Amino acid sequence: MFINLSNLKEIGSRKQVSLELEFHDLEFANREIEIKDPIKLELEIFNTSDSFVVEGKLKANLILRCSRCLQKYSSPVELDISEDVLKSEMEDEEELYLDEIIVDNIILSLPMKPLCSDDCKGICPECGQDLNEGECDCEVEALDPRLAKLKDFYNDDNE
Ligand SMILES: [Zn+2]
Ligand SMILES: [Zn+2]
Repeated sequence: MFINLSNLKEIGSRKQVSLELEFHDLEFANREIEIKDPIKLELEIFNTSDSFVVEGKLKANLILRCSRCLQKYSSPVELDISEDVLKSEMEDEEELYLDEIIVDNIILSLPMKPLCSDDCKGICPECGQDLNEGECDCEVEALDPRLAKLKDFYNDDNE
């Protein structure tokens, strides 16, 4: 996606751009990030002597996968954009390439451990049941990590 800058040649000139665009899904660090609805952008572009400053907002509806229960969930994001695109790095000073700005900002906003909700119960380590949907019949031994250490200690002793 390009924004035409041919009417922004004069240093000091600025323009507002408001647009919606369908965007492809992303893949990052083996995670798939679906982008559900069109991305909404409200930007102001400002021509400085050696760069174009791009500022504004990006709104998107992402579909992420919860790191605990592995279900997909919808995560609306609203991001502040503030980029300085150097003219020396542009292929053509009359066209601003937006994709990279969009991808970088979305990836930077991603949580390290996405969670469908703060109190997601995750899945049962025995049978894989989604514990948000109900308890399973497994008897998972809830072992206090301090007790586990103690147990190891005694086991070592017996050897
Ligand atoms: Zn979850
Ligand atoms: Zn289970």
